[in-house]
Order: sequence, then C-alpha cells, then structure tokens
Amino acid sequence: MKISYRLFLLSSLITTVGLTSTLPTHAQATGCPAPALSRFQRHKVLRGETLEKIAQRYNLIPETLIVMNPNVNNGRVSVGSELQIPPYNGIVVEVPSGQTWRQVAAQYKVRPDAMFEVNGCQTNPKIVFVPGLNWLPNRPQTTSVIPANSNTQSRINISGYPLAQAASVGLAYGWQMNPQDGKVFFHSGVDLLAPLGSPVEAIAPGNVVFAQEQGSYGNLVIINHAGGMQSRYAQLGSIKVKVGQQVNTGDVLGTVGTTGQPSSKEPHLHFEMRSSSSQGWVAQDPKGYLNR
Ligand SMILES: [Zn+2]
Repeated sequence: MKISYRLFLLSSLITTVGLTSTLPTHAQATGCPAPALSRFQRHKVLRGETLEKIAQRYNLIPETLIVMNPNVNNGRVSVGSELQIPPYNGIVVEVPSGQTWRQVAAQYKVRPDAMFEVNGCQTNPKIVFVPGLNWLPNRPQTTSVIPANSNTQSRINISGYPLAQAASVGLAYGWQMNPQDGKVFFHSGVDLLAPLGSPVEAIAPGNVVFAQEQGSYGNLVIINHAGGMQSRYAQLGSIKVKVGQQVNTGDVLGTVGTTGQPSSKEPHLHFEMRSSSSQGWVAQDPKGYLNR
C-alpha cells in the first residue's frame, strides 16, 4: 500500500493546535474518550535509556516513536531530550483539503468507527491520529488491525444475554441516520428494549473494570472477559456492582434506566461488545454474541 498523505510533524502540531495543553471538553460530554491527540505524554530521556526500552515501557514499537519524534536520529535518543509519547501505535496525519477523515481511514485500512472514537468522535477533524501499524510497509497487517469484515467473533467463545427475557432491538449496531436531523452517527452497540427497572445481567464471567456515570453512556458497567473481550452495559438506572468485582454469567449488574443520552426513546439497555486491538477496545457487532 502506498501512503500518499503527508505525515504531520508533531513539532508543528504542537504550535498549531496546542497539543497536550488542550483537553477538549466535548469528549466528556459525549462519552467518547478524549482524542488521542490530546493524550500524548512527554518523556525525558534518562541516562542508560534506549529507544527500544522507552517504547517498551509505553507498550509501543520503536517505529512509532521514530515517526513521532524528529529529534530521534538513526534510532538513537540523547539523554535529556524530550520525546512525544502517543497513547497507541499510530501516526498523525493532516486530512487533505477536500477529503474527509473517512477517506484517510480507508487509505490506512482502519475501521471508521475505531478512527472516529480514537479521535474523540469529532465530525470534521483537520488533523487525525491514525491508530495501528498499517503505515509501516513491512508489518504484516493481520497482526496490527482487525479488518472490518473479519470473523474474529468465531474465535472467541462468548455467548450469552444481558436480560432475563429476549428483547426486541430498538436500534441496531453500526452506522445509523438520526431521523430528526439527518446526521449520520455510529451506534457502537445494540439497544435492547426492556421495561425500566429490569435487571441487567453479565453475559459471561469476568471482571468489573468500570462502574459509574460516563457522559452519554449514563450509568455504565464495563466487564473484561477472557480472550481480550469486553462487554458494556449503558443507560442503567442503577448500578449494583463495584470495580474489581468478579462476576459470573447471569449476575445482576444493575437495572435498565434512561440515564445519559439514550439513542432510542423507549427504555432500553444499550449493550456493547468490544475486542482488544492495537486500536484500543474496538466495538464489534453484538449480534454474534447474543444468545438466549
Ligand atoms: Zn444505544
């Protein structure tokens, strides 16, 4: 694959958009993670540190640090110099005028929803963080990115249901159009219609890693499962578990509610399945995991 986009040098990025000092407030409001560009850290090189060691410490590959830091020469870092450390492997790209971030995502073979979330759910960003390693010509792409139509779901053996009774779907997973304003948005989960107060259950055993209010998600419970899988239960009326708690299939996590900014009007559980990848926790179509 030939990359024709100009890589945006981080040094100029810092002066143009005030990188690392600007924490967009909309991220909190929408429930999206803060944009990757606002989550860079600085690392001052200490005596005895090598590029490889520093990369390893931040769970990155050295190539990512090389492309982000023009002051790294021939893979060498000098003591006392400062490095920009991105939250994931990836590169910073300026969206060419007349193009959209979706076209940049397609060029780098990054899932649009992953790109959208990593960049803080901005609709029209001028500069984007492209997660993954597809910009590296010599990296096998299969190890870096989950392709949009992959059947990764078949290798993970999670199958369950988050409600006591099978529910109808209020809004399906995927790109959807808001009938009110015609705007297209990505629905990262499925809305399962259920009466207010219905118990919400864990679909598989796992660890509670999040259990509190989170922007548009409202009251949110996140469970990490074996095999790099994660389930999310949002818009809850109440939360009945705590972070760090181990849960089993069918354990009650909370109740159906209308907290946050639900995407469907009828009371429902917003349920997500995500899998761990180089692009962070990437949403999967929950359909393949729901079984009652
Ligand atoms: Zn929803």
